[in-house]
Amino acid sequence: MRVSFFHLIPFLLPLQLAFAQGMDVGGNAPFRLPRHVQAAVGCTNYLWTGSQLSFTHSTNSLVFYPGRKRCEVNGVTVWLNTEPTGNVNDATWQMAGIDLDLVNIGILKPVPAAKRRRLTVLIDPGHGGTDSGALSCDGTMYEKDLTLAVARRVGNLLSTNGFNVCYTRTNDVEVTLQDRVQRATRVKADFYVSLHANHANNPQAAGVETYVLPSSGFGGTPDGSRIRGWQVGNRNDYANLLLGYWIQRNLCSSQRIDRGVKRQSYYVLRGTACPAVLIEIGFLSNPTESGAMRTAVWRNTCARSIAAGICDYAVRADSLSGLVAVKRKADQEANERWRKKLAEMAKSKLPADTATNTPPAAVKDGTAVDDPEEEPPTH
Ligand SMILES: [Zn+2]
Repeated sequence: MRVSFFHLIPFLLPLQLAFAQGMDVGGNAPFRLPRHVQAAVGCTNYLWTGSQLSFTHSTNSLVFYPGRKRCEVNGVTVWLNTEPTGNVNDATWQMAGIDLDLVNIGILKPVPAAKRRRLTVLIDPGHGGTDSGALSCDGTMYEKDLTLAVARRVGNLLSTNGFNVCYTRTNDVEVTLQDRVQRATRVKADFYVSLHANHANNPQAAGVETYVLPSSGFGGTPDGSRIRGWQVGNRNDYANLLLGYWIQRNLCSSQRIDRGVKRQSYYVLRGTACPAVLIEIGFLSNPTESGAMRTAVWRNTCARSIAAGICDYAVRADSLSGLVAVKRKADQEANERWRKKLAEMAKSKLPADTATNTPPAAVKDGTAVDDPEEEPPTH
């Protein structure tokens, strides 16, 4: 089958564009070099210890670990979509452009506003009714009861802080995942926070993790997670991360073990139209943690931390919206410039009367061959 050059443009465009933007800062480059990370953090150098790579500025710091998705953003563990590649010693280290953009725009850049709008939050206590969720290691506490108890406390705190608070449930009833997601749309939620508690076979497992949706085309943090394409929740990739980051940061400031902002394609994260996170507030399978979890002191502290994280997010939400709008406009313009260039390339190489249906020499039977003469655009 013969395929025209124009038929291949949709497939060539992302490759060419990605390569092009990898040459400079901006866009969705597939990989970024240390100098791009320096520009994001606002520093002029980096520190390589042999086991960790640090970019530090007076207000921001990023730490990476070779071959790992794990990084630290201002001391909080954040799991990237994909691990950096190469190594620092031979100057081949690079990280995914999409991850740098997410960390930079989604965490480092948003600034707090002096005043914030009244936002609507949908709080989702996990499980309920016949779906009890996990059971504590001593067999006396269900996840559904714990999540509801903490959710009520979070809601009360947020109400007194000027939020409009909605819940997916306020008592021990079963709510389907679809209903939870649809409720976010029905109540016009500005963001959604789902509360869960963890369980592991290893009784030593402990700490807090906050989940956000992986970016389109990437799997979750656990190895072997399914890779999915674009989901409704991917509209809010930046806001998901900002919300998850600030909640995790506040939860871990009170001596809790930081398991990180992780990524997983949970139903409620991929289907919810507004920014959404799912928090695993602790391990019911850990004797020490589950013992603490049944106390009012622990529940109050946990709720205060979540509410504080939500306030930290909310005050930066408008700033983030502005940054995302600028980024999307720049991406759109870069795409358009490259689309035009490809069209010009195709026109100049093909006889005018066959320009739309004859493949150029470099394209045979659907296989694109790079043209070494073409310089990709820079921005
Ligand atoms: Zn759960």
